[in-house]
Amino acid sequence: MKRDLKRLSGETFDILVIGGGIHGAAVAYEAARCGLAVALIEKKDFAWATSANSLKIIHGGIRYLQQADLFRLRESVRARREMMAFAGDFIQPLPCIIPTYGFGIKSKEMMRLALGLYDILSRDRNKGLPKTKAIPPGRILSKKECLALFPEARPNGLSGAALWYDALAADTERIPLTYILKAVGMGSVAANYFEAVDLIRRQNQVAGVKGVDILTGQELELKAGTVINASGPWMNEVVQSKKFKPLGWVKGMNLVIRKKLVSKCAVGLEMPQKTKSKNTGNDDNRMLFLVPWKGHTLIGTLYKAFNEKPDTLKVEESEAWEFLDIVNIAFPAAKLDLDDVSFFHCGLLPSHKIRDSHPSAIPDGHSEIIDHEKTDGLKGIISIKSVKYTTAPQLAKRVMRHLKAKGVIKKGPGQKKDSGKAIPAPSDVFTTGKEGVDPEVVFHAVNEEMACRLSDLVFRRTNLGTAGPPQKRVLVAAARAMGELLGWTPQRIKEEIQEVDSCYALRNS
Ligand SMILES: Cc1cc2nc3c(=O)[nH]c(=O)nc-3n(C[C@H](O)[C@H](O)[C@H](O)COP(=O)(O)OP(=O)(O)OC[C@H]3O[C@@H](n4cnc5c(N)ncnc54)[C@H](O)[C@@H]3O)c2cc1C
Repeated sequence: MKRDLKRLSGETFDILVIGGGIHGAAVAYEAARCGLAVALIEKKDFAWATSANSLKIIHGGIRYLQQADLFRLRESVRARREMMAFAGDFIQPLPCIIPTYGFGIKSKEMMRLALGLYDILSRDRNKGLPKTKAIPPGRILSKKECLALFPEARPNGLSGAALWYDALAADTERIPLTYILKAVGMGSVAANYFEAVDLIRRQNQVAGVKGVDILTGQELELKAGTVINASGPWMNEVVQSKKFKPLGWVKGMNLVIRKKLVSKCAVGLEMPQKTKSKNTGNDDNRMLFLVPWKGHTLIGTLYKAFNEKPDTLKVEESEAWEFLDIVNIAFPAAKLDLDDVSFFHCGLLPSHKIRDSHPSAIPDGHSEIIDHEKTDGLKGIISIKSVKYTTAPQLAKRVMRHLKAKGVIKKGPGQKKDSGKAIPAPSDVFTTGKEGVDPEVVFHAVNEEMACRLSDLVFRRTNLGTAGPPQKRVLVAAARAMGELLGWTPQRIKEEIQEVDSCYALRNS
């Protein structure tokens, strides 16, 4: 996959996708499968933003039973199955438990009912999946079984636990890349570090974008029949239409903890009561989730209202402490300190409550396709409001059906088989901090996967730095290997290392 800006600016595309997160990537892939001429641009690196900051759970929708939202439950069952079929090597079934107490909603009896109901409603959850990827049915565990999996469960009144299975995409950064590589394999063109700075408008018709190559400063015009705005939290900025009511946003944060707080399964714990009154988005029965991941523990998710520009997003130190306090109340044995945090995840999610000045910071529940012809009279551009990584492949198919229904495209999804070119599985391309850097991996990342900066290699082509800072000697070796291929000066190598180091401060990535 090469950065071909000449082709990008020389052709008129059927579809131009802005944004290389999971949604832009899945749309590019589906559009390529419709046999369309497709281009995708990304202002930084593919999947650097919200898509890299997720809790990495590919949800099967069991939680929607609580709100009796069967539509979302069924949508999630199908979405998880689809994601596992597409990116099976990257996704594994994940056992999850919630300790049970008392006689109310968190009791063994209620959970037994919920698990039974979910099993029926998700009976087709494994259709077409290999046996190794099958999601087993949930069951109720005895108190002894619960304590064997999670010895630190609050003992007072503990009756057992509910066990169910979701799925974990350990390297959420690689799935969007896989979609993009496959789209490119079918003839699409993609470029990272290329920013859309303005829409090309002919009266009320969008005909492409004016953009800038971030690596050289070169300005180019890209022409397309339809622009798909999959820019996530930058959606309002990209549209810039006076008639469009901008979305509001909440900041979601996860902690990456060096300690193995849980090892055999993910554990859901109730948020402490005192945090429910604050604007942490927890007044809707949200839980704290502890997920075993790469010898570390991911803990999510804390929400906060966010009213700034998306480029200023970061985790404040006070928020980190607040989050740690919440975890320490819910799970006193953890005894977490700031030093236990090896990395922070931070991303923005749409929230109509924030837009409407509601006091609680709760992200929206439904992804949406926003056709600007309907909302603000602007033809030729569609925005994606996205709330879940899991449902991106389905949303991408919905976008194609929407375009077909409008008569914008003639063919629907699945007209073309993808090229079938094997995309390297994590074990082939990933390195570990201990073993150092394999020059072949660096060569592959630069020449086949468009890695342009050291941070692309460290966070998104390999997992060298995703769980915390790599050893200095490994980072320097990686920078030198990349510099050799890309002709970096010693000064540039130093700057690239500094940029990676800065990602471990209190911020997103
Ligand atoms: C803390 C947290 C935990 C989460 N956990 C989960 C989970 O466990 N499971 C789950 O299913 N979902 C989860 N989510 C939700 C999920 O991560 C998001 O819904 C999803 O990643 C959004 O993807 P996206 O492609 O829409 O946006 P992004 O990944 O943000 O991609 C948008 C891209 O557009 C690019 N862009 C913006 N403007 C321009 C421009 N002008 N020109 C070119 N490119 C541009 C950006 O650089 C960015 O890369 C979580 C979210 C958060 C914040």
